[in-house]
Amino acid sequence: MSHKKPPNEVASCSFCGRTEDIVEKLISGPNAYICDKCVGLCVDIVQKKAVNYEMKLLKPKEIKAHLDEYIIGQENAKRTISVAVYNHYKRIRSLAKQSEIEYSKSNVMLIGPTGSGKTLIARTLATILDVPFAISDATTLTEAGYVGEDVENIILRLLQAADYDVAKAEHGIIYVDEIDKIRKTTSNVSITRDVSGEGVQQALLKIVEGTVANVPPKGGRKHPNQEYIKVNTQNILFIVGGAFVHLDKLIAKRLGKSTIGFDATKKEIDTQETNYLLSKVEPEDLISFGMIPEFVGRFNSIANCNELSTQDLVDILVKPKNAIIKQYIHLFAEENVKLTFTEEALHAMAARAKETGTGARALRMIAENLLRDLMFEVPSDPTIQEIIVDADAVIEKTPPRVVRDRTA
Ligand code: ADP
Repeated sequence: MSHKKPPNEVASCSFCGRTEDIVEKLISGPNAYICDKCVGLCVDIVQKKAVNYEMKLLKPKEIKAHLDEYIIGQENAKRTISVAVYNHYKRIRSLAKQSEIEYSKSNVMLIGPTGSGKTLIARTLATILDVPFAISDATTLTEAGYVGEDVENIILRLLQAADYDVAKAEHGIIYVDEIDKIRKTTSNVSITRDVSGEGVQQALLKIVEGTVANVPPKGGRKHPNQEYIKVNTQNILFIVGGAFVHLDKLIAKRLGKSTIGFDATKKEIDTQETNYLLSKVEPEDLISFGMIPEFVGRFNSIANCNELSTQDLVDILVKPKNAIIKQYIHLFAEENVKLTFTEEALHAMAARAKETGTGARALRMIAENLLRDLMFEVPSDPTIQEIIVDADAVIEKTPPRVVRDRTA
């Protein structure tokens, strides 16, 4: 076969658009190219092997049960997302079967403070469903023509997670964080932000509602003579998340409530009130917040993640399948050292994390700080048998108790 291509042009697969620099092999014909991946796919088709990108269609209760293994609390968000995901993949199935009823594309919005588990929910879902997953931050995006990332880079990240398998990427999940930061700003806020805020929502809207995106294979800004990989975003599930600070005030205003009575301390009243109000969120509240109506309209499932209580934080330390404390116990067990945390120590760690205001994010750092010195010592000290972390170690920062066997 000949291998001719116009000078200065990057050859690309005529089937999937991948360029020669990102495929293993690109075979050229008289007027076309085909890459190794597409050859593989064609072999499957010729041999009548089912080319099966069908997802495991887990039922909502099954999805929720899996999420429960990793995510503490957030019942509302877990239930909502389980239903949304089930319907999303059911829709894809019905499209494949060309059923008469067409379900419209629906995406998910998660509202809740930082460190409450929004990203974790999205990431866990992708693992459960065994689909590619990518995270992007809305604040890094700009509408075309401005300094920053083009929205197509979000798709590129998913494509990379799918190992450049376009069909696989087209069934993946994308999580866009900090979506509240691209609100349309009103006149009383800095005018410079507004350009990108509303523009980015418009740009995101296109890929969220379903389009064939032209993805630059290497990322960066688009430029006219570049070859693109075409990715259809129709079946990609978009989950967006944000803290939406003060959204609760807008909801309270709509509901005509100034304060709600709870029989608890002031701080708890605030938290319970915010959680309650956010559970009542309606699209119109998000529009008042500064999201454009067309964008909000693409998110049929909106759920809130509650601010985590101290007890939730204790549970996060010990209960999830891959809980932080379980990980450290395992780490030390490998050195033949028994590691224990007293109940009071766990509460003190949770209380400290709560003070930081970053939700569960602070827990790992707190545990790491407690155990760093011992992680340094233990591998070279066979006399260490047991380590007990008590409340003093957390509160007073005294070293954890160490039990030794001098004969070892
Ligand atoms: P968010 O996206 O809401 O800001 P993340 O999902 O990134 O928060 O949470 C940060 C980390 O905190 C997670 O990786 C996880 O270890 C822990 N975490 C947060 N919320 C939960 C939760 N509800 N259950 C279990 N772990 C959690």
